[in-house]
Amino acid sequence: MHNKKIIEKYLEELLVIPSPTGYTKEIMEYIKKELEQMDIDYKVSNKGILVATIAGANQEKEITFSAHVDTLGAMVKEIKANGRLVISQIGGYMMNSIEGENCLIHTRSKKVYEGTLQTIKPSIHIHGNDARELPRDCKNYEIVIDECVFTKEDVHKLGIEVGDIISFDTRTKITNSGFVKSRYLDDKASAAAILYVMKYIKLNNIKPNRSINFFFSNYEEVGHGSSAFIPKNTSEFIAVDMGCPGEGQNSTEYDVCICTKDSNGPYDYELVNKLIGTCEQNNINYKLDIYPNYGSDATAALKSGMDSKFALIGPGVFSSHGYERTHITSIVETAKLIIAYIAN
Ligand SMILES: [Zn+2]
Repeated sequence: MHNKKIIEKYLEELLVIPSPTGYTKEIMEYIKKELEQMDIDYKVSNKGILVATIAGANQEKEITFSAHVDTLGAMVKEIKANGRLVISQIGGYMMNSIEGENCLIHTRSKKVYEGTLQTIKPSIHIHGNDARELPRDCKNYEIVIDECVFTKEDVHKLGIEVGDIISFDTRTKITNSGFVKSRYLDDKASAAAILYVMKYIKLNNIKPNRSINFFFSNYEEVGHGSSAFIPKNTSEFIAVDMGCPGEGQNSTEYDVCICTKDSNGPYDYELVNKLIGTCEQNNINYKLDIYPNYGSDATAALKSGMDSKFALIGPGVFSSHGYERTHITSIVETAKLIIAYIAN
């Protein structure tokens, strides 16, 4: 039996740490601390990638599982004369998905300020139909800082500068019915699954036949998460990242999703077969699917010159890059597949 409570604990702890791409030091510190408690070796690259390794008898052909801990977010693009902030998006998302959301502004001098992302015509009583019909483009939004600031100079005095990181409230909620609703389940749901897998391996004293690497990437949302530092004996690279349930899709919020093809083309035929076989032999609920607008860390690794079989598996995340939802069973099935594959 798998312990959902442990997965939920990891998930909540990961989600509460702001980690937009380019600002992942704190979340990596959290992962390091967890690994040290589990007595698992790890290495950190210059770029900040963390690779944890559980050695097996066979170190010639290793398996590497990746998950990314960076998320969508924003950066201060401009400080306006009225003391509001124009943002530049980090990662690809619809602006309306964060409209009205609370945020934090993280200055380089380590101060943190609160604010809200609003449109430039936020009140129906003032702007009427203009408020409704305003195009939801980044340029029509601004951050209203929760400090008494009225000019650009006031904002400078707080220490806020162009290039400061902005993180948005995740609005994390786990319902009694087992649904997890939050921003950034992509890919913290998978990161939680991987931490759980490592804990399970340790607690149950599982000795993998092949060496297993867990690759925590920190630039996935901008496309080069796993473009370096891939353990050199990797013969199978399995990106653990969200599946996409929704209109026309085969994925669900309850199964582990196995991607057969995304916008970069097909995944490795034999490795996908092995993953399907593992699910069938171990009664793991899975769904195969194709994602038309998706690129994973497996592709980033391949494009950087990795010569390895490659696959993409993960929990099904509804409304991806918006206010996301999955069910805890989808994360459990993902963890089960990783554990069963390792034990093979
Ligand atoms: Zn992702």
